[in-house]
Amino acid sequence: MIDTDRGKKHGLDKCPRCGSSDIHYRVESRALVCSYCRHAWNEDNAERAFRLDTPIQELSGENVASGAQDVQAGDAMVTIKCQGCGAEVVVKSDETLQARCHWCRQVLSINHQIPNGAVPDAVLPFTLTREQAVEQIQGFVSSRRTFANRAFVREFVPENVKGVYMPCMVVDGNLHTDLRGTGEITTRTYTVQRRVSRDRTVSERYWDASVHELGRSFDILVDDLTAGSSRQYDRTDSSQATNYILDAVQPYDTREALVFNSNYLSGFTSERRDLDIDDLDERVEDKFLSIAREKARPTIAQYDRGVRWEREGIAIRGTRWVTMYVPVWLYSYYHRTAKGSYVHYIAVNGRTGKTMGSVPVSHPRIFALACAGGAVATAASAVVGWGVFLSNGF
Ligand SMILES: [Zn+2]
Ligand SMILES: [Zn+2]
Repeated sequence: MIDTDRGKKHGLDKCPRCGSSDIHYRVESRALVCSYCRHAWNEDNAERAFRLDTPIQELSGENVASGAQDVQAGDAMVTIKCQGCGAEVVVKSDETLQARCHWCRQVLSINHQIPNGAVPDAVLPFTLTREQAVEQIQGFVSSRRTFANRAFVREFVPENVKGVYMPCMVVDGNLHTDLRGTGEITTRTYTVQRRVSRDRTVSERYWDASVHELGRSFDILVDDLTAGSSRQYDRTDSSQATNYILDAVQPYDTREALVFNSNYLSGFTSERRDLDIDDLDERVEDKFLSIAREKARPTIAQYDRGVRWEREGIAIRGTRWVTMYVPVWLYSYYHRTAKGSYVHYIAVNGRTGKTMGSVPVSHPRIFALACAGGAVATAASAVVGWGVFLSNGF
């Protein structure tokens, strides 16, 4: 286990200059700012502070940061004794990591890790402002407006975007992969004229190919693979809501993440992590395997008719798991339909502005446009595009 706890007691987390506990993260300054004396500062870089940057090729076994341990069910209530006045304040830690003391009005924070998944190892703060996010969402919707559901367009208020810290696991992997399969190389192509009836011949084209057994065996070092770890937003099925929110707006510059401090969350909401390493294992291994296939690709260029991998194996020598809150500007829309309801999300990466999501479609509108003569071709392709878009969520 890698200990990433700051070693501070729950309670006041003061401004280093004036001692005030009124601290919030200001996107424009990209720093924590004291509301009282305006002093601005940041926590240390998490990777360096916790030595999470040791060489990946030296990783062996499962290395788990203390914030990535299994989530334990149970009481989420944390009682904090205010160091200012001695009063005791109860914080519902699965909803918030801060509360104001009822008596002296100072802000009390959850300052060390608790086993309910609410406190991660690191946080990657927002750098994209709310205004920039609103612009992104507006752009995303306006390019899809033609086919969008009318009620959605009517009720579209991009200013309702919410800043959400989404939990994810960041994984390093020291791996060995073994791929076996067959590949084909074209050796000759030719055309044969074949008589099909008395006065008609058809030309048929033939390929000769040589078939080869092949294998590739190599080491891979995976640095900072990210997997969303909130059940609600990273579910595999898309029957009720847009899914894989985080995957859609990747990548994040996870190397820049900072040591966690509850003050980064003030003014934003956060989703508690409720997926453990065991829940994500399979998904992560699948990603490892697709990285392996991708790495093998340049070495199989000579098999111009393709390669089919029949056996694929990954031997995991070592992994490192770290939990992190990453920033997402999230717009949600509850679409009520005859069959029930569906939650559409539009997500904006809070660092890069990358925007993805789904918008409810108006089927009558697509039909009307498809029938409008010249628009047939474009509209038809749009229908196909939207079909795929909706069934996959993102
Ligand atoms: Zn201050
Ligand atoms: Zn107090």
